Amino acid sequence: MQVSVVGCGVTGLTTAVALRDAGHDAHIWAAELPFDTVSVVAGAIWAPSQLEPRTRVPGWALHSRTVFARLADVDATGVAPLRYVDLHRQAPAPTWGEDTPWVQRAPAEAVPVGYEAALVVDGFAIDPPLYLRWMIERFEASGGTITLGKLGPLDDGTPLPGDAVVNCAGLGARELVRDRSMFPIRGQTVAVTKSGPFDGTADESDPTRISYVYPRRTQLVLGGTRDTNDDNPEPDPTIATRILADAVVLEPGLAAASVIEHRVGFRPGRPEVRLEADRLPDHRLLVHNYGHGGAGYIMSWGCAAEVVSIIDASAANPSPINGC
Ligand SMILES: Cc1cc2nc3c(=O)[nH]c(=O)nc-3n(C[C@H](O)[C@H](O)[C@H](O)COP(=O)(O)OP(=O)(O)OC[C@H]3O[C@@H](n4cnc5c(N)ncnc54)[C@H](O)[C@@H]3O)c2cc1C
Repeated sequence: MQVSVVGCGVTGLTTAVALRDAGHDAHIWAAELPFDTVSVVAGAIWAPSQLEPRTRVPGWALHSRTVFARLADVDATGVAPLRYVDLHRQAPAPTWGEDTPWVQRAPAEAVPVGYEAALVVDGFAIDPPLYLRWMIERFEASGGTITLGKLGPLDDGTPLPGDAVVNCAGLGARELVRDRSMFPIRGQTVAVTKSGPFDGTADESDPTRISYVYPRRTQLVLGGTRDTNDDNPEPDPTIATRILADAVVLEPGLAAASVIEHRVGFRPGRPEVRLEADRLPDHRLLVHNYGHGGAGYIMSWGCAAEVVSIIDASAANPSPINGC
């Protein structure tokens, strides 16, 4: 099928690449390239996410993990294996990740003083600038094109060509499909110099004061915040000072690190991910794939695979609405 994908963040790019890999003629339409979206601000790691809907999220996340494991064999992708330690001041409820070989509870003697539990995750670190560049090159090398420009609401009629449209607009879905359940979740980070190999570490025991260290290839990303009541696009110096102080508690070696950059991004929040088939006013297939909150990378390949199966089913049987 000929498919127009709206959005060029990690969700749109991955969906468009997966559609082309499956033999569809997919092209991207986007207001911004990924280097100007929240996708470049992300940490970005693969670890079990507690996003909703819980019935579908583990399948999407595990599919993504399989793909990241393959991509980690290719240096240019910017994907690397990551040991990630998730510290808890109170023992957490069991997560779906503990049903897999990729998440283990550390034995009591290995849990740092002051904590009740530690989950050790066999995950992946994705370096967004490298990865997103590599994904664009992969997409364009296969014949995909990216057309820049902001689109109006799809129910006003759309100039997008093709047999189907996939909506990967992230927070832009508020306007593109008038989804009022979307909300921005502000994240502020500090990038600092990296002096050697680092595990990922996090202490999110207090949701109002989360702290994490995520390694990228040549720097560390320190976080963070997850705030739904703050729309300030500028880094807040008070928050940055708190992030740096908390990171040194997690990793004392960071006291000597130098600040490279302060960053702010707005995660596309929604009560649950929207991945379902719909129709445009002209009756062409519209597939929604947005609202991935703080887990756009974790969900990316799994959600893209489900979009492909909806498009495949529609190609095989064009009349009914296929999928979920
Ligand atoms: C501090 C921080 C840390 C994070 N850490 C992680 C992590 O460790 N792991 C993880 O998986 N995720 C993480 N995330 C979340 C992740 O960044 C997001 O879930 C993901 O980037 C969302 O990608 P997206 O492609 O859906 O949206 P976006 O990146 O926002 O892309 C949306 C695209 O749609 C386009 N668009 C929107 N409206 C229109 C329109 N009307 N017309 C045309 N184009 C339109 C935009 O131009 C853009 O190209 C983090 C986020 C933050 C802020």
